[in-house]
Amino acid sequence: MSEDIAYCICRSSDISRFMICCDNCDEWYHGDCISMTKERAFTFLKFYCSKCRDRDPSLKNQLVKESKKYVVYTISSSEVTSK
Ligand SMILES: [Zn+2]
Ligand SMILES: [Zn+2]
Repeated sequence: MSEDIAYCICRSSDISRFMICCDNCDEWYHGDCISMTKERAFTFLKFYCSKCRDRDPSLKNQLVKESKKYVVYTISSSEVTSK
């Protein structure tokens, strides 16, 4: 049985470095091969590799910050009293 699993754009089986997984194709990428730092990777809620994004432009990398939806309360006009 061959254990040669190739990851990333560099097609290496090296898993000793920091890696990030694409949420679409489940492919693992070395941070340094796709110029992604560990710190930056933590800000991603969803990460899609460039291959997937080329294939499907609707896939967008989502940042944790952007994922938070702010609830907008509409101020009732009755609170504004005009005399
Ligand atoms: Zn690589
Ligand atoms: Zn992918």
